[in-house]
Formats: sequence, C-alpha cells, structure tokens
Amino acid sequence: MIKIFVTAAVVFLLIWANKIRIYLKWQKKSEAEKKPFYRWPENVHHEPEQIKQIRQAQMEHFQIEPVGNAGGKICRMKAESDSDFCFVALGICQCEEFKKEHKPCKHIYKLALDKGLIQPAAEGDE
Ligand SMILES: [Zn+2]
Repeated sequence: MIKIFVTAAVVFLLIWANKIRIYLKWQKKSEAEKKPFYRWPENVHHEPEQIKQIRQAQMEHFQIEPVGNAGGKICRMKAESDSDFCFVALGICQCEEFKKEHKPCKHIYKLALDKGLIQPAAEGDE
C-alpha cells in the first residue's frame, strides 16, 4: 500500500518537475527575445524626441506582417505615413529614422508597446 503511494508521489513530482522545466525554458526564451530592446538604457525613452516616437507609435495605424517562422521576432511594418514597408525587429529597423539616430523609431516602439516592454507615453509627459 505504501509502495503505491510512494510511486504515485514520485510520478506526481516528476510531472511537476517537467512542467517547471518547460516553463523555465519558455521564460528564458522570451527573455532572449526581449533582450535586443534593452540595448538602449531606460533614460533614452524619456528624451523628448523619443517620446514623440512613442506617441507616433501609439497614434498611427500600422500594417504588421510577421516574416518567416521566427515567431514574430522580425516583421514587415508600414505606418500610414510611411511610403513603403520596412523590416523591423526589437533592436533594429530598416527605416531612415533609425539609420539616422540609432535610437528606437516608431516601428520599434510599436513592437515594444505591443509586447508590453514599454509604457505608453502619458499626456503632457515632455
Ligand atoms: Zn523604423
């Protein structure tokens, strides 16, 4: 009788250990995906120019299409005011704004906002 109980307990623990392992793996993966965005220090996002970009990301309507099967890490994006699609990932963008400043552009902020990596700019936060 005790044997059955011990076996059941061991099986139960093994199942949980496996669940925890899968969860940790998933968490690690999602951390790695967010990492490119943290190349910029937090205070960059409080610069007036950057707040404008965040506002732009909130206000404009974007067409977003995931590229390949990278799990949405890379996508093609086009805002209403853009003339064409550009390729965007959390740490890099193909647009002119990004090439010029090397700081997050509205496309990168759009991704970051969707993933909850940054707070939307509050009214009068300049
Ligand atoms: Zn861009």
